[in-house]
Amino acid sequence: MAFSFLTHLECSRTGERFAADEVSGTSPAGAPLLARYDLDRVRETVQPQDIATREATLWRYHEVLPVHSPEHIVSLGEGMTPLLPVPGYGKRAGVPRLLMKDEGLVPTGSFKARGAAVGVSRAAELGVRGVAMPTNGNAGAAWALYAARAGMGALIAMPADAPAITMKECQAAGAELYRVDGLIGDAGKLVGAAVAGREGYQEVSTLKEPYRLEGKKTMGYEIVEQLGWRVPDVILYPTGGGVGIIGIYKALREMQELGWISGKLPRLVAVQAEGCAPIVEAFRRGAKESEPCPDAHTVAFGITVPKALGDFLVLDAVYATEGTAVSVTDDELLAAQRTLASLDGAFICPEGAACFAALGPLRESGWLAGDEEVVVLNTGAGIKYPETMTVDAPLLAKTDAIPAVLRAG
Ligand SMILES: *Cc1c(COP(=O)(O)O)cnc(C)c1O
Repeated sequence: MAFSFLTHLECSRTGERFAADEVSGTSPAGAPLLARYDLDRVRETVQPQDIATREATLWRYHEVLPVHSPEHIVSLGEGMTPLLPVPGYGKRAGVPRLLMKDEGLVPTGSFKARGAAVGVSRAAELGVRGVAMPTNGNAGAAWALYAARAGMGALIAMPADAPAITMKECQAAGAELYRVDGLIGDAGKLVGAAVAGREGYQEVSTLKEPYRLEGKKTMGYEIVEQLGWRVPDVILYPTGGGVGIIGIYKALREMQELGWISGKLPRLVAVQAEGCAPIVEAFRRGAKESEPCPDAHTVAFGITVPKALGDFLVLDAVYATEGTAVSVTDDELLAAQRTLASLDGAFICPEGAACFAALGPLRESGWLAGDEEVVVLNTGAGIKYPETMTVDAPLLAKTDAIPAVLRAG
């Protein structure tokens, strides 16, 4: 029996079909390629209840993932993260049925590991010797570590002001790491030039190869499985390049076609930071594509993407599900990060916190009803962003006398 039911790749703009059995970038139209599967055969082969007994990683959905032979799987145990109730924050925001999918628990501390696991595994299967990418940080760290596990080279270029922790992860993994005096686009140009001259290297920038998306779509499968094969009313996602939200939408459509879910799809919400909100701007205009955001800046570096290659796919997912797109300020998302930790004990990343910050306004405007079941994606661990929290605890002198401040408490 087949392990994967991958059949071909499809241009996300023209629908044109391409073979999936060689290393692929974007389509001739310059658009992302989408992996397609023989879903009729998947439906005949596997039922949702069969999946329940499989190992607790994203590979439990292997029929709808692109890796044909299990020996090519490069895994650090990624996937099946908890779908946690967050009653404290939910009550405060007026959405008591609030759940958080916590991706802070995956290897490398961000959900980028899902894309890296599937992307690197498929690249290994196709004979790729090294992967290369520009990154704002988390993706580079994840791909460097998974490439190391696969025995593959990794060439990573980051803006010089990307978070030091992600550079350290690349360095620890033995990747070829470069700091670029510029933005991610500048890093991208250098990587493109480097790959052109290197035998066996593949450029794996966001949506420039088809399989990272397949790894990220498993968040959608997991949410549905963890809810007992049904969908929530709303899903909020911190959107940068948009791979996660495009992936969740792709997963929902596949599950519809498989007959694994029925009824109305969840309304998908793209959340961005005000300092970089091209998708939100486009949504407000009712546009199908975004305009590049000038001077992009936010503490939520994972969503600092001025112009996403897949912007039209994000907007399509939002429009098709009657979702929306909203932005919040850095102050609002940092406040939400603290509130969530203090009410529910979860220290999450600023990107995830942006989604929590968006709940209040969505509830106040009436877009979100108080009885709805809402899932927020937390895409990474708060401990990967030590600089977002300054320590303001009182400093005590060494003394035998009890300081006044302690007596007061
Ligand atoms: C990359 C990243 C995002 C945005 O991911 P996309 O799916 O490309 O929009 C969100 N949060 C964190 C922590 C990230 O690293």
